[in-house]
Amino acid sequence: MVIFVGAGPGAPDLITLRGMRALQKADVVIYAGSLVNPELLAFCREGCSIHNSAVMTLEQVISVIESGEAEGKTTVRLHTGDTALYSTIREQTDALEKRGIPYEIVPGVSSFCAAAAAVGAEYTVPGISQTVILTRMASRTPVPVREEIASLSAHGTSMTVFLSAGLLPQLQEELLKGAYTSETPACIVYKASWPEEQVIHCTVGTLASEGEKQGIRNTALILVGDFLCGEYERSRLYDPGFSTMFRKGGSEA
Ligand code: SAH
Repeated sequence: MVIFVGAGPGAPDLITLRGMRALQKADVVIYAGSLVNPELLAFCREGCSIHNSAVMTLEQVISVIESGEAEGKTTVRLHTGDTALYSTIREQTDALEKRGIPYEIVPGVSSFCAAAAAVGAEYTVPGISQTVILTRMASRTPVPVREEIASLSAHGTSMTVFLSAGLLPQLQEELLKGAYTSETPACIVYKASWPEEQVIHCTVGTLASEGEKQGIRNTALILVGDFLCGEYERSRLYDPGFSTMFRKGGSEA
């Protein structure tokens, strides 16, 4: 049995209870050592066999899983943040299905949620944006042409850019081809929820220079959009004059 677990953004107490319990009962753990906080391995029991996938290929990962499976062991595959975003679980679940190896997935707190928390922001504020685009710049991993940041930027929505902290000058240029202006607020969030977390407030126009000044090259998210500024409309949900299934609006509206 294999349990894919989202480890959360870094702070060991941001893994879910279900994820922690999976680690506590695991016989084998394969963790993504480039980003997963090794402090999480303290949840593993003595004698658990631990592998760092940062130095392994997909084939080696599957081979460790297969060997464990042959001995009836439980393997936890620990990925950073949530398992549904840039985690490479799909090629692993497909390989397991081909071999008839059962698995389950335990989601985690994604870094884009931890970054918003670090900033004290909500992506979906009324009157500003009701949509979040989660994306990345193309690098050695290509991005489909129709998803280039320049075209996604046409919407002017809240946007979170993963895996692109080393490409800030190019990112800035792409963002400016759409609805964002050089005054649109932006934020670089480095290692959200880790002790070394840094939040750098800037604008789309100063994104590259601020990143350079602070020496940010990796493990950061770029947040872009007017949700980062002070203006928005209050919610209908909690408006005294607004009726919902659970509450009748009164005249104090
Ligand atoms: N599955 C992960 C994303 C993995 S891709 C998730 O849900 O968060 C790796 C990228 O995620 C990094 O390059 C960086 O852009 C971002 N990232 C992961 N952890 C982060 C953190 N604690 N703070 C800021 N960005 C982080």
